[in-house]
Amino acid sequence: MSSAQEAFPKPRIFISRCIEFDACRWNGAMIGCDFVRVLKPLIEPVTRCPEAEIGLGVPRNPVRIVRHEGALALFQIATGRFYTKEMLAYCAAETARLGELDGAIFKEKSPSCGDRDVKIYASADPLAAQNGKGRGFWAEAFIQVYPDIPEENEGRLNNFTIREHFYTAIFTRAAFRHAKQSGAMKDLVNFHTRNKLLFMAYNQAVMRDLGRLVANHDQLPVEHLFAAYQEQLPRMFQRIPRRGSMVNVLLHAFGYFSGQLENRERSHFLELLEAYQTGRLPLSACQTVLQSWIERFNQEYLRGQSFFRPFPQALIDISDSGKGVGSARE
Ligand code: SF4
Repeated sequence: MSSAQEAFPKPRIFISRCIEFDACRWNGAMIGCDFVRVLKPLIEPVTRCPEAEIGLGVPRNPVRIVRHEGALALFQIATGRFYTKEMLAYCAAETARLGELDGAIFKEKSPSCGDRDVKIYASADPLAAQNGKGRGFWAEAFIQVYPDIPEENEGRLNNFTIREHFYTAIFTRAAFRHAKQSGAMKDLVNFHTRNKLLFMAYNQAVMRDLGRLVANHDQLPVEHLFAAYQEQLPRMFQRIPRRGSMVNVLLHAFGYFSGQLENRERSHFLELLEAYQTGRLPLSACQTVLQSWIERFNQEYLRGQSFFRPFPQALIDISDSGKGVGSARE
């Protein structure tokens, strides 16, 4: 792949500031995170630390979410103080200032930033038991404002499959934003064309809807098309694609070459495909063979397909937390 094709527009990503950006945790520490370190130069980060920014300071006594007078409240046991009002005001003001974003990485389990599974305590009594789980105050407000955004926490992103899916979604959104900024119909058409195989793997129904928009039979103004396309695009990345969908796309790409290959090459590829389908090989094993044929037969259309490189090479790292999610991109 040429360096020009490797030039990905930078996604604008919200990241909880304590992950690799600042030692602003309650105990004055920073969370070290290998993949965020690699991601940093490839994105436009937008960071916040809600707890430090509402004046709790660094270091500070920890806060927790408690049930209080029929609602959820942010409570600091050491001082006996509630910070709910300050946090809600901060969330309302700051979420309105973030601008257009392509994704979010939250600090897991934080009563402010946690996007899921944050402990909720039965009351403000220091001895109260946990009696539920939910989102942190900031994450809740953020997701209300950005309901369709690809969002994860740094714990889940340790899983290779979840991470690849997240990277695919954020870099595709950034590329779309880039095309939208130009406002030119040809850039919308190019974007759609470049992503055809990727979309085919992710969601064929959404791909057809987007294709109809780009075909523009009703001769709508280009701004209208970009807006409608942007509204539909998040549906594409709602689910991690199944292996079967990936296999269909790999077979589709294989079809471009099969007539030019030796029997033994065809058999070898079909064996790899079978090994991928049964989980014995990663997707990249099949993609790499196809990429070598793209170069050998100079297949221009496939060379431009994002399916073979949906995000920068530097982010390819197959290390995993070991917690599988049973999806395609393994
Ligand atoms: S989790 Fe959020 S509030 Fe807590 S230290 Fe990190 S950025 Fe700040």
